Amino acid sequence: MKPATATINGNALRHNLQLIKSLAPNSKVCAVVKANAYGQGIPNVVRHLSDLVDAFGVARMKEALQIQESGYAGKILLLEGFFDQEELRKTLSRRFDTVIHCLEQLEMLELVAREWQTEQEKSFWKRKTKIYFPITVWLKIDTGMHRLGVHPEQVAEIYSRLTACPLVENVVFVSHFSRADELDCGYTEKQIVLFEATTAPYSAPKSIAASSGILYWQQAHYDWVRPGIIMHGISPHSEPITSLGFQPVMTLSSSLIAVRDHQAGEPVGYGAGWISPKATKIGVVAIGYGDGYPRNAPEGTPVLVNGRKVPIVGRVSMDMMTVDLGIDSQDKVGDEVILWGEELLIEDVARAIGVINYELVTKLTPRVLIEYRDA
Ligand SMILES: *Cc1c(COP(=O)(O)O)cnc(C)c1O
Repeated sequence: MKPATATINGNALRHNLQLIKSLAPNSKVCAVVKANAYGQGIPNVVRHLSDLVDAFGVARMKEALQIQESGYAGKILLLEGFFDQEELRKTLSRRFDTVIHCLEQLEMLELVAREWQTEQEKSFWKRKTKIYFPITVWLKIDTGMHRLGVHPEQVAEIYSRLTACPLVENVVFVSHFSRADELDCGYTEKQIVLFEATTAPYSAPKSIAASSGILYWQQAHYDWVRPGIIMHGISPHSEPITSLGFQPVMTLSSSLIAVRDHQAGEPVGYGAGWISPKATKIGVVAIGYGDGYPRNAPEGTPVLVNGRKVPIVGRVSMDMMTVDLGIDSQDKVGDEVILWGEELLIEDVARAIGVINYELVTKLTPRVLIEYRDA
């Protein structure tokens, strides 16, 4: 009997990546695998995709190291850049690509470059103490998200400082949409115009599109696209994307560990929050908020038992949840329960709970087993 398990369909993952490439045929792909590859497990996602992508993007140094140590020798981009000098030194010695989004990062890079040059001059006749590689810097421009990025007016100065820095091999211009899933709000067009105007004087490559940008803003695919959630067949907003040809990659499942007769008028679970209006059978499923399933999932949130949608009743607890199987249920202890997957789309579960799809997958905890199948 399986406890909470995320089954990852490697073929669906590759299919989605191919679909992304056909949607953005002239762009390189930086596959974003932050947050443990959206809960799907970094090493295996990297293994399944490494021959299809041009780079992997991550949010933390730890994730970059994990990818490199898994044997991948290609490009790895730190989407928020290095956080301190120690991380910068790792970036240089491991030859990661890095975003630079603020002057503090630029100054740190210039400082380390000066030290490195001095050291090289002093020790050119002996063995070099530090091996640093010139790297690709992705200069992040704030075009309207107003979270990270330098102001468009700062770009000329920063660009010339970057090209003058001996530790910088190439520059890529990067920005991020804040409302790319709102097709008629007019904001994305403004970001595109500003991004193009700011980068027009330079020949450096450009990147702005994440999942929604790839799906809806063809004119902004540029040299690099940065897909995250759609690689997993999950929508960047609330409407499923299976109609666009994407296939759900993850099935989150567990098992019934008890099937209990339940009398009308009896409550179930902590706080006795739900009281059954009639006699029924209650199924106890071995998954809870300790596995990352949201505790605030309201009564009625669907799960799938033997192909049939049944509602969660009572509070989700740490290791278990309870579902109303109905009086005529034939379901048995050991039967599989699907929390989301191909037959119960994560978009529908997220909507019922009132969270976004991204939250559901990234909150899964290490207790959830991750299994891969290639069929
Ligand atoms: C997370 C992230 C992405 C991927 O976003 P999705 O919406 O999952 O495609 C792309 N670029 C940056 C900078 C990110 O932080």
